[in-house]
Amino acid sequence: MNKLFYALATMALVAFSGLESMAQKTFLHCGYLIDGLKDKAQPEMTVVIEGNKIVAVEKGYTTPAAGAKVIDLKNQTVMPGFMDMHVHFESETSPTAYAEALSLNQGTIAFRSVNYAEKTLMAGFTTVRDLGGSGVNVQLRNAINQGLVKGPRMLVVGKAISATGGHMDPTNNYRADLQGDPGPAQGVANGPDEARKAVRYQYKNGADLIKIASTGGVLSVAKDGSAPQFTEEEIRAIVETARDLGLKVAVHAHGAEGMKRAVRAGVTSVEHGTLMDEETMKLMKKNGTWYVPTLTAGKSVADSAKIKGYYPALVTPKALAIGPQLQGTFAKAYKAGVKIAFGTDAGVFMHGKNAKEFEYMVEAGMPPMEAIKAATVSAAELIGMSEKLGAVEKGKLADLVAVTGDPIKDIKLLQQIKFVMKDGVVYKQ
Ligand SMILES: [Zn+2]
Repeated sequence: MNKLFYALATMALVAFSGLESMAQKTFLHCGYLIDGLKDKAQPEMTVVIEGNKIVAVEKGYTTPAAGAKVIDLKNQTVMPGFMDMHVHFESETSPTAYAEALSLNQGTIAFRSVNYAEKTLMAGFTTVRDLGGSGVNVQLRNAINQGLVKGPRMLVVGKAISATGGHMDPTNNYRADLQGDPGPAQGVANGPDEARKAVRYQYKNGADLIKIASTGGVLSVAKDGSAPQFTEEEIRAIVETARDLGLKVAVHAHGAEGMKRAVRAGVTSVEHGTLMDEETMKLMKKNGTWYVPTLTAGKSVADSAKIKGYYPALVTPKALAIGPQLQGTFAKAYKAGVKIAFGTDAGVFMHGKNAKEFEYMVEAGMPPMEAIKAATVSAAELIGMSEKLGAVEKGKLADLVAVTGDPIKDIKLLQQIKFVMKDGVVYKQ
């Protein structure tokens, strides 16, 4: 009797939810639609959503059948959800951040990261790549996917991989007796064998992609911010191992030599790329390597470095020297025709301010529509998800954002997102 009851109840539930999903279409009336594909915004459009998918994009304001939901965005410009290819949800800039590295428990990092993820989603970023933390980022991704907390769709690297004393060695700046000798399990690798092992560790821990540092960095407590830190042989070992596991590789690089080694070894994207020379640009074009500029990080570290005591003494001169150069490099790379995907390095500055990057890209000479495409259709291509993300068209996931007014005329409007939908769910209206 009991069994029969449950069977019937389950059937009824399945039938009911089936009916509901068939009836529950949402009609988004868009004053203007930038679909990520066309070069112009289209006036008076309707986007029809069913479940988590876009099922139709129609001209004019479609009048739906009774029972369907209408969302009136007639005074707004609707766009695909933005995608930031470089964030760090486990941290946020502060003058005490370096000291906290030794005292913060993982639970605190996790609670904070939940807050940063929600801010980012509310700013219109429905997909991000988290390019490095301690591994809490992997759990955050899972919690978001399970609907436990609000945040963008995340692709995470877990812990970024570095050489001993390199940009992502987690014990840089520790007291000598606390440094120990971190290895592949801690994301530190020397030689091709350890490099392969470090990649496999990240894969085992749930990473969606691999991040490495092929040169020094600005914010690590080390003297040089641009010299190469991996041999080409080590980078090749990383790229080949990652490829076997179906993972792409993003490389942090400021100096040209470390960038070239990484590009020749077959990485998918170069992050920052501050001292990128013409030869590197040519090589990137030839290999189809993406450039993720992170202009907001460059500007913001240079600003913070002017505040006395904000960074450790070794960091300040690097931030002042490297930060301001990024925007010029971006302008050159764009003119040279290097493929560009939007990325900010949020965490190095306050989370939720990601859309500032659009303003800096346009300031450097990229047309507003191109900047929007870098954060939508191009970013989707970089992560290999063009079939599902990056455009407003039939069959894509329903990730949509909107602003009041015309962002092509005033790119700063993108910093005031009024509407956010991710996977068909409205998070901000
Ligand atoms: Zn970063």
